[in-house]
Amino acid sequence: MKKLLILAALLPAATSAQDKNLAYEITAGLTTEVGQRLAGTEQEAKARAWATQKLKALGFQNIRIEPFEMKGWIRGEEKAEITAPYTHKIAITALGHSGATPTNGLTGTVVVYPTYADFLAAPEAAINGKIVYVGHAMGRTQDGSSYGVFGRVRREGPAVAAKRGAAAFLIRSIGTDDHRTPHTGVTSWPDGVTPLAAAALSNPDADNLERIARTSSSPIKMSLTLTPKFTGPQQSGNVLAELPGTDPAAGIVLVACHLDSWDLGTGAVDDAAGCGIVTDAALSVAAKGKHRRTIRVLWAGSEEVGVFGGEAYFKAHKDEPHALAAESDFGADRIWQVNFRLPEPAAPLRARISEALAAQGIGTGRGVAGGGADVGQMIAAGTPAIDLNQDGTRYFDLHHTADDTLDKVDPASLRQNVKAWSSMLDLVANAPEPLIFTDGQ
Ligand SMILES: [Zn+2]
Repeated sequence: MKKLLILAALLPAATSAQDKNLAYEITAGLTTEVGQRLAGTEQEAKARAWATQKLKALGFQNIRIEPFEMKGWIRGEEKAEITAPYTHKIAITALGHSGATPTNGLTGTVVVYPTYADFLAAPEAAINGKIVYVGHAMGRTQDGSSYGVFGRVRREGPAVAAKRGAAAFLIRSIGTDDHRTPHTGVTSWPDGVTPLAAAALSNPDADNLERIARTSSSPIKMSLTLTPKFTGPQQSGNVLAELPGTDPAAGIVLVACHLDSWDLGTGAVDDAAGCGIVTDAALSVAAKGKHRRTIRVLWAGSEEVGVFGGEAYFKAHKDEPHALAAESDFGADRIWQVNFRLPEPAAPLRARISEALAAQGIGTGRGVAGGGADVGQMIAAGTPAIDLNQDGTRYFDLHHTADDTLDKVDPASLRQNVKAWSSMLDLVANAPEPLIFTDGQ
């Protein structure tokens, strides 16, 4: 009886500590209380205000917003219909930085290319004046490597089509789901190229269009309305917060995520979860008492539309000593692998991190860490890096779609991420080894 009473007295405290899932709380709070956070809009500004308030409440120091200007773009109406040889309404969404059709839309003949290579090989006469569609065969990968290869059609295709006189450019969504949720994502226009109306079809709609092209010899006609617009220079910004260490000269440990999101869903997986993970892990290191190196959290702005936040951070902070840069921006699923890019004298630290993560079932990869987009420039300029790679198998089902919402985030997976990040950060923040490349890298 006495034993039972002691257990009962201990239980509530132990349970609440165990139940605390700050990473999930941040993800839920940001997606519920702010929602979508398109870069350069009022929504992103609200997210910065939410972030500074939250980081202050959590006990961070030196919290600040570092504003910068970027080019604004907002979505308009988006509507498409195949009108011949059969009629079908199409689930479609404009690519970020897409140009517009006339307000009342345009109608035209669709030319269908199953692959980007087919499109590049087509003669200009076949493309001029046409609505061009390009497909691809992206598959699921654990490491997300298919995005780099197949994403080219979205990043580069619209500008190539514009130069060749196309009326509009459509792609199969850069995604791996079979739902009618098209995937947006930014495209780019080299200087002198006028933005063309460019959009992604959901995968089932792309299947349908390709099937019609294969089985019918009649021309395919489509009507298309896209009315996004560029809104000129807009304000965005990075949010920074610190947990000061005892030895400022030992360099800053930078952990990043991005605060902005696409406007279709609520950006839970991309990248509210990342902000939750790195922030929770940073605090768990500080909760142990003193740590040697200052941990700086960066919630970057304007990642999705061109990594303007990462660029602004690099410009403002490249001359400060950084011991490490790492980012969580690949969803909310479990970490399965770690990769490093550390200077040679830090080999013992690397071994300690590998061992700690191996005990959590996380293996050491053969790759070289490159960070996420927002810390990419810092790493390219010589900041040491560690990548904690999340399982990307289902990431591109949700990526940049209206389906990127909180229900897709598994609280237990976030805990697993935080545990791995905490182990890594604790070891890096307190490592006696110098963390600086000295060979001119
Ligand atoms: Zn992201």
